Order: sequence, then structure tokens, then C-alpha cells
Amino acid sequence: MIPPGETIGILGGGQLGRMIALAAAQLGYRCHIYAPEGDPIAADVAAQFTQGAFDDTAALAAFAANCGVVTYEFENVPVAPLAAITPHAPLYPPARALEVAQDRVNEKRFVDALGGRTAPWQAVDSEADLAAAMAAIGTPGILKTRRDGYDGKGQWRIMTAEQGQALDLPDVPLIYEGFVDFFGEFSVILVRGGDGAIAFWDSAHNHHVDGILARSTVPAPAAIAAQVAAARVLAGKVADALDYVGVLTLEFFATDHGPVFNEMAPRVHNSGHWTIEGALTSQFENHVRAICGLPLGATALAARGTVMDNLIGDAAHDWATILSDPANHLHLYGKAAVLPGRKMGHVTRLIL
Ligand code: AMP
Repeated sequence: MIPPGETIGILGGGQLGRMIALAAAQLGYRCHIYAPEGDPIAADVAAQFTQGAFDDTAALAAFAANCGVVTYEFENVPVAPLAAITPHAPLYPPARALEVAQDRVNEKRFVDALGGRTAPWQAVDSEADLAAAMAAIGTPGILKTRRDGYDGKGQWRIMTAEQGQALDLPDVPLIYEGFVDFFGEFSVILVRGGDGAIAFWDSAHNHHVDGILARSTVPAPAAIAAQVAAARVLAGKVADALDYVGVLTLEFFATDHGPVFNEMAPRVHNSGHWTIEGALTSQFENHVRAICGLPLGATALAARGTVMDNLIGDAAHDWATILSDPANHLHLYGKAAVLPGRKMGHVTRLIL
């Protein structure tokens, strides 16, 4: 057990780290942010900050030596250098979860092996591979980079084989996925404690615009809610197989044939921001409780429902209008530059 008063190390300095640090502070912990950038928004609300590269093993070891436990808010941290952390402090969730989630092929293999349903997929490393994948799986489909993609970046929709053949393939490992005919998207977010106990939050219906999450609504419509039980079974198997500790997110497509796994994130997730006000214990607080070995908090709804809207790019300028409605909960992440497509904050409304 890492008792309150100790220091939690967080790799990554974005809004997820910022919200973990806020929840940790409430429980009496100090947070130490480790990030490559000079002025990360998570460090604004944390006790300590180290600027360092994610592959600087000496700096990682010195950082970990001052932490009771280390976690991460960013799933693309390189895995091998993390070995410098574990002699000094436990790392939760385990590095194996990162290995699986960082590579879309590993992730799909892992879920397939556990009996989950995925879109038909094939690894693509050349134009010939793409042609073979399109022939086997058909079009339309989506070509994605295996690693480092987020918010719809590193993805190409392919409507016809001709369109696929005309693509100038980037020189990185890729995956081709058949297009899933879904009627909705939802996520399963769970927290697993060190003793193996798992708690789930209600699943949000996620609405994406241009590949970026725009709105999460809880409860989800009945047709989606009907698929949550099956999705939870898979999510629980994933968490157990990874001996997971902390918050884990799996994203699903709701289809006429049941839930199809899309991807997982070994961390707190944007589609769980509604839990700050909308659940008895937020995803951020329960992540802290889990990695510190504290009892988990209740995950039940705090209201009949909750709607969370992301503030993307210029939408963050509307803060005064948002605050003019006293029922709105405004969260701004403190990012200096407003850029198109950038997640600047979110607004939560409870349905009472
Ligand atoms: P991802 O980065 O894999 O979550 O993809 C971003 C968004 O693209 C998803 O939330 C879906 O809306 C869409 N998408 C991704 N993969 C597929 C697929 N195989 N079939 C249909 N839509 C997809």
C-alpha cells in the first residue's frame, strides 16, 4: 500500500495526467510529472516536475527513486526504458499492457486469442500486402498505422481497391481493417485493484466527429446498453490476462451482431471524463486508489445521467457562455495554444 502523503509519479504531462494529479491531491498525495515537453499542463497542478525524454533511463531511474509508485497517462511511452523504473518503484498498469495496446496488431491478436470479436484485419508492410488484404477482406476498409495513431490520425478510409492501389503508403507498419457496419460506439471503462477486484462504470455512448470524440452520453441508448454485458466479459478477461492494476478502457462498435472490439487504452480515457461529476467515484480517483492499493470507490451513477462535451479548438473560447448556465461543469486544461482539433477542455452536465 502506498499511503496518502507519498509521491505518485506520472509519465506524460497532458490533460489526463492533470486530472489524475487533481484526484491524487484530493486524497493527500503529491504528484511528480515526468514529460519531455518544457511546460506541461499536468505540472501546473503537481508538486514536482522533471523534464526528460521517455528513453533517458538515468533520468527515469532518478525520477522513480523519488516516487512510491509510477503510472502513465500516455500510452505511447516506449516500453524498454521503463525497466529503469521498476527497481525503484512499482509501475502500474504493468508494462505488458502498454506493449499490447501500443500496436494495433498486438492488440487485435490479444483480443482474438481471448475470444473477442474484432473487425477482420491483416498486417500490411507493403503495397503487395495491402492488395492481398483488400482481396481477402474486401472494401471498404480502413488502413491504419499500427503505432502512434490517435484521434483518427494515421488513418485512411479506402472505398475501392483502386483507391487503395493509388495510395502512397507511409514507410511504417500498417494494418488494414474491414469496415465495421456499426450503429453506435461505446466504451467499457473498468478499474482493477491489486487484489484482482474489478468495478465497471456505466458505458457511455460515444459520438465522434472527424475521428475525435465529441460527446459521451450516459446512460447509453437501450440498443447499445444491451451490448454492454458481453463487452464487459471481454474487458474483464483482458484485465485479468494482463494482471492489470488501474483504469482500463476498451472501445467497441455496437453492431446488429453484437459488440465488436475496436481498441483499448491502458489508462483513464476521454469517454470517462463524465465520471468526475456523474459517478460516485471518478475514473481518476479510482485509478489513484488502485495503483496505491487503497480500497476502490463506488462506480455507480451520481445522477440519472450525464452528458460530456469535449471543447475542441476554438470551442474553448466559449467559456463565458458555458459558465452563464449554472448547471454546466467547465473543465479547461490550461493549454496555451488553441489549435484546430486540439482537446482544450470539456463541459459536463448532469441529468437530474
Ligand atoms: P480508432 O483510432 O481506431 O479509434 O478510429 C477512430 C474512429 O474511426 C473510430 O472511433 C470509428 O468511428 C472509426 N473507425 C475505426 N476503425 C473502424 C472500422 N474498422 N470500421 C468502421 N469505422 C472505424
